[in-house]
Amino acid sequence: MSIIKLHDLYFKPFISENEIKSIVKYLAQKVKRDLPKDEVPIFVGILNGCFLFAADFIREFEGNCEVSFVKLASYQGTSSTENVKQLVGINEDLTGRTVIILEDIIDTGTTLQEIYNIFRNKNVKQLKVATLFFKPDVFRKELPINYIGKSISDKFIVGYGLDYNGLGRNYSEIYQLSTPPKMKNIV
Ligand code: 5GP
Repeated sequence: MSIIKLHDLYFKPFISENEIKSIVKYLAQKVKRDLPKDEVPIFVGILNGCFLFAADFIREFEGNCEVSFVKLASYQGTSSTENVKQLVGINEDLTGRTVIILEDIIDTGTTLQEIYNIFRNKNVKQLKVATLFFKPDVFRKELPINYIGKSISDKFIVGYGLDYNGLGRNYSEIYQLSTPPKMKNIV
């Protein structure tokens, strides 16, 4: 792993592919253990950032499940905005279902608030939230987060589905915003 440049910014290696793999596996096993034996949950991924996490998570989940997605957006560049837009909604009937949200990262909690608003009136049996990454220093809501993969500091990250203005989602590792490097080994 080496420093990468996306648009005008530099990012340094932060979390390896192996560490991500073991966090995802741990989350999938923990979610499974907490469910009643024959419960068939519906996992709802929050696009775009969750697409790799959701794909890996459901393959680690042992048991029957359904998968769906909603598309929300709150970030512009490297900062969160209060304005969360729902771009694609959910069509399934969720009455009486166990719904488990899969989020890539929870930052201020604005998006999480919107998620709770969206699912509040859907008559679900239970709603749980699993996030791969969490920034506790900037979280401003009193909302439950049932499963946290890894808590990180308040620094902008990219990779493994997370982007900076559209770039960076295809990296298998996580990179963290960095100052410009002095060396020349930039990808
Ligand atoms: P929140 O609404 O909690 O402030 O932010 C949640 C959303 O903002 C995430 O789903 C993600 O799309 C984006 N986000 C938050 N922190 C980061 C980050 O460090 N890097 C990237 N690429 N996106 C982030």
